[in-house]
Amino acid sequence: MDIDLAQHLRARRRLRSTKERAGLVTCSLCLRVRQGSEWRAAEHVIRELRSYELEAPPRLQSAVCEDCAESILSRRVAEESHVEAA
Ligand SMILES: [Zn+2]
Repeated sequence: MDIDLAQHLRARRRLRSTKERAGLVTCSLCLRVRQGSEWRAAEHVIRELRSYELEAPPRLQSAVCEDCAESILSRRVAEESHVEAA
């Protein structure tokens, strides 16, 4: 029983450290990854973090980058004005 608990706690600690080490925010549209205030190509980030060497794959949190948000908004505005004109 004591051993089970120790194993359980160790597994939880490992899970937490993996999460802290590798939580990445990615844009769901262009697939770039946020690093600080920049959005960078996934292949650069993967090479830099060497995420393929991690015990568990990095946790990804999906978001939309400013560029993609901007293009969605401008497309939406263009569509609306097209509908108004028709
Ligand atoms: Zn994007």
